[in-house]
Amino acid sequence: MFFSESQTQEIRELLLKANTVVLVSHRNPDGDALGSTLGLKSIFDRHFSFKTQVIVPDERPDFLAYLPGFTEVLVFDKETQQATEAILNCDVLFCLDFNHPGRVGDMEDVLRARASLRPDSGIMIDHHQQPEAFITYIGSDTSASSTSEMVYTFSQMLGFESIPTKETAMCLYTGIMTDTGSFRFSATSPATHRIAANLLASGLEHWKIHEHLFNQNKLSKLQLWGEVFSRHLSQLQEFGVSYMVADGELLQRHHYEEGDLEGLVNFALSLKGTTMAAIFSERKGKIRISFRSVGTFSVNAFAREHFNGGGHENAAGGSFEGSIQEAVQHFLSILPSYKSQLKS
Ligand code: 5GP
Ligand code: MN
Repeated sequence: MFFSESQTQEIRELLLKANTVVLVSHRNPDGDALGSTLGLKSIFDRHFSFKTQVIVPDERPDFLAYLPGFTEVLVFDKETQQATEAILNCDVLFCLDFNHPGRVGDMEDVLRARASLRPDSGIMIDHHQQPEAFITYIGSDTSASSTSEMVYTFSQMLGFESIPTKETAMCLYTGIMTDTGSFRFSATSPATHRIAANLLASGLEHWKIHEHLFNQNKLSKLQLWGEVFSRHLSQLQEFGVSYMVADGELLQRHHYEEGDLEGLVNFALSLKGTTMAAIFSERKGKIRISFRSVGTFSVNAFAREHFNGGGHENAAGGSFEGSIQEAVQHFLSILPSYKSQLKS
């Protein structure tokens, strides 16, 4: 278990005394970030009397708007003062689905301030590698499929029912499904499926979640993907590497909206013989890269070492200072030193 019996007891006591609890997650919040925070909020709303506020650093993708509680989430970028006060003044702070304060963008200073003032009422629940111990309770399980799976386990540790409400199930199922690529990735365990079974037993209509996540495409998004496939996808067979490039001009021309590139990199990985895939994109003038791999090649290590990033063994992200062409050049220049690892 990611918290000991005594830690769980201490956390329970913190919660019983609390009037306000804040749950924060990472920048570019995804299905697991919002699923785990909103899922934990709905568990707390059912079992405790304190008020729970979910806060994310920047805007949520529209395709997750079906999640219960989505509209009450505070966005730090837009409601900075309110969010700052909530983080600084809350009785208990939960940090979900991120491993260090560098993952929360402009919210970092506020989070660090709160953490250093009152570390002992700060709780992390996360499945990324190498968590930073910036608060007292570090619940880390790098073998967990998702933070949403850990939130389910945490609820069990607190002694709550194994079949949650439908609202809680919608949130947690979304997080588990998105982070496992629909129960596909290697972190999907027997426990993941047992938890999913208990979520389904709530009466959750899981097919509706699939509809929300996969069948709400816009024409402009599919046309953007089409152009990336036909003109900006390269395969380097000698390295077992495939990569995509989506520059600012391309994204603008296809009316890019937050989330439109989500999942695209997996198609580069699906090319036969590919060990590592990457997508370079230029958003708001910043260069972001998403990495994916199969097998033992660690894109976490690769992103940490070369692109100021990190994540998991098989899914990681990072950034680059410079132009998108320079980012690609940098990437290409370091591949030879990984050739033996990539081709093993
Ligand atoms: P994605 O490619 O979907 O944005 O991210 C894949 C995984 O890598 C996610 O688990 C995410 O949390 C992590 N990740 C993405 N970008 C960064 C980054 O800049 N730094 C770190 N440490 N992790 C990242
Ligand atoms: Mn996650």
